Amino acid sequence: MAKISEVIGGAAAVVKGMSITFQEMLHPTITEDYPDAPPKFQERFRGVHELQRDENGLEKCVACFLCAAACPADCIYIEAAENTEELRISGGERFAKVYNIDYNRCIFCGFCVEACPTDAITHGHGFEIASYNTSTLIYRKEQMLVPIPAGAHFPLKAEPHAAPEGH
Ligand code: SF4
Ligand code: SF4
Repeated sequence: MAKISEVIGGAAAVVKGMSITFQEMLHPTITEDYPDAPPKFQERFRGVHELQRDENGLEKCVACFLCAAACPADCIYIEAAENTEELRISGGERFAKVYNIDYNRCIFCGFCVEACPTDAITHGHGFEIASYNTSTLIYRKEQMLVPIPAGAHFPLKAEPHAAPEGH
């Protein structure tokens, strides 16, 4: 008699388990299909940085070094250069000739983004940067710069200086 009740109890447990399984099959899936499908990010996700341009295609970075000073991991390297009348790269006096971020060290804290006075550096959603070769984790400006907007031309010439009044 004990064995019959064990069998009935086991069968009831299976039926209960299967009923939960079938109920879940009717619910919408919340599982991400990555890497078969792109993952969904929250807007605030801090991924690989992007260096922004303004609507004319000029780089927003004016090489002020505030991001490098704010970085607790000391992973931003910048070399500044002056814009000239023949060639203007940014909207300020200077632009970043070299702008590197070492992702061996970056902790994605966002301090650089907060420190930037021109909103030149932001976090994108890129995250697939794992590598066996650490030298590939030093990202250069060219890898982080967003594309030139449609209709803008690069390199952009500086506006000629307005003639002083009375001349
Ligand atoms: S996110 Fe943080 S650690 Fe990474 S470059 Fe910016 S300030 Fe440095
Ligand atoms: S990214 Fe922003 S804070 Fe950093 S050097 Fe350029 S303008 Fe300055």
